[in-house]
Amino acid sequence: MSELAYPYEAPASQALFDRAAAVTPGGVNSPVRAFRAVGGTPRFMVSGTGPYLTDADGREYVDLVCSWGPMILGHAHPEVVAAVQEAVARGTSFGTPAEGEVALAEAMVERVAPLEEVRLVSSGTEATMSAIRLARGFTQRTKVIKFAGCYHGHVDSLLAAAGSGVATFALPDTPGVTGAQASDTIVLPYNDLDAVHAAFAAHPGEIACVITEASPGNMGVVPPLPGFNQGLKDACAANGALFVSDEVMTGFRTSRAGWYGVEGVVPDLMTFGKVMGGGFPAAAFGGRADVMAHLAPAGPVYQAGTLSGNPVATAAGLAQLRLLDEAAYDRIDATSLQIQGLVTEALGKEGVAHTLQTASNMFSVFFTDGPVRNYEDAKAQESFRYTAFFHSLLSQGVYLPPSSFESWFVSTAHDERAVQRVADALPAAARAAAEATA
Ligand SMILES: *Cc1c(COP(=O)(O)O)cnc(C)c1O
Repeated sequence: MSELAYPYEAPASQALFDRAAAVTPGGVNSPVRAFRAVGGTPRFMVSGTGPYLTDADGREYVDLVCSWGPMILGHAHPEVVAAVQEAVARGTSFGTPAEGEVALAEAMVERVAPLEEVRLVSSGTEATMSAIRLARGFTQRTKVIKFAGCYHGHVDSLLAAAGSGVATFALPDTPGVTGAQASDTIVLPYNDLDAVHAAFAAHPGEIACVITEASPGNMGVVPPLPGFNQGLKDACAANGALFVSDEVMTGFRTSRAGWYGVEGVVPDLMTFGKVMGGGFPAAAFGGRADVMAHLAPAGPVYQAGTLSGNPVATAAGLAQLRLLDEAAYDRIDATSLQIQGLVTEALGKEGVAHTLQTASNMFSVFFTDGPVRNYEDAKAQESFRYTAFFHSLLSQGVYLPPSSFESWFVSTAHDERAVQRVADALPAAARAAAEATA
C-alpha cells in the first residue's frame, strides 16, 4: 500500500515494527497482526481501557476486534484485573492441581449442557489438536472431515483450506505439513451436507470425526444454514464418527452457552478458548464423559501441559465468566445491532455492494452481493474496498480487523460515546470504499 494513499503516519509504531522485524519473522507473533492484507504500519498498542486501545503514538481507537473475541467485557475490566492481581500475589504457577481450575471447569460445565467433562489447555490450537487426537483414539480411525474456510488453529492436519490468517494470505496449504497429515484430512465446502454424506460413503469406517466451527467467524461471519449442524451430528452418529464443534470463537460469546445455546445441537466434543481465558492463555476441550474417559490418566490417549489450568489464567477466565450474565449478553447484542445498522446505512447511502452477516453478536461485512454461504463466496468479495474502508476508519480512530476474512467483535464496555465515534467515522469510510479501485 503506497504511503500516498494513506498519508497519516504512525512513527512510534513504525519504529517498533522495524525493531520487531529484526528479531521476529515478519515483525509479529501472529501473521494477521502484520497488516499485510491491508497494507500500512501495524499499530503497536500500549494500553487498553474499556472499548478503547491506545497506540504507541498516543492515538486512541474504538476497538472492534477485542483481541479477536476474548475482551468481551472491554479492556482492563476492574473486576477481572482485581481477580488477576489477587491470583498473581498467591503465586503464578504450581505444577500441581489447584482449586481455580476446578472452579473454571465447573463454571463451564454448568453453562454448556453437552459439556460433561472438560480438560484445560493453553490455546485454542492445543484444544482442537487434542480433541482430534482423542477422537482418533476413541474411534480407532484416522480420517478427519473439515470445511474450507474454517480455522481451527495451526494444527498440522487442520491447516488445509483454513480460514483466518491462512485465508488472508490465500495460502493453499503450508510447507511443513506432511503429505500423510494432509491426506488424512478431507476438506469439504461449508454448508454442503451432500458433500458430507458423499465423503462418509466414500470412506466407510475410516472417518474419526467431523470438526466444524460452531458458527464460522474465520472466513468472515458465515453462519450455518438451518439444519446444517444437526445434519453433521446425524451423519456422524449414523457412521460411528464423532461430531466436534469448535466453539473457540463462539463459546461464551454468542450466548451464555455459546453457539450451542443458540442452536441446541449436541456435539460429542467441543473446543473453547478466547472468552474463557479472560485475556490470558486458557482454552479447553470437553464433551461426552465416556469419550473424555479415554484421556490420560483416566485412559490411554496422552495429553498434558506444564501451564494447563494456570492459576492466573483460570482466575481471569472465571472472573470474566461470572460477570457474563444475561444482561451482559443483551447489552452486547444491542450494541452489535446498533453498529450493524450504522454500517449498512453508511454503505447503503454510498451505493456500495455489500452483505452484512451475523451470528448472534458476531458480524462482518463482505463487499459483495450476498449471500455468503461458504469460503468460495467469501473469496468473491472485493477485498480492495475493505482495505479502503479499513484505513479510513483507522485514520479516524476506529480499529477493525486488518483483514476482510475476520469477524468484528464488541464488548459490554462499548457505550454510547464509543458507538457515536464509529457512527461519525462511517460516512467517510463508506465513501472511501465506494471510490476504491482494484
Ligand atoms: C482462534 C481460534 C482457534 C485457535 O485458537 P488459538 O488460541 O489462537 O490457538 C481455533 N478455532 C477457532 C474457531 C478460533 O477462532
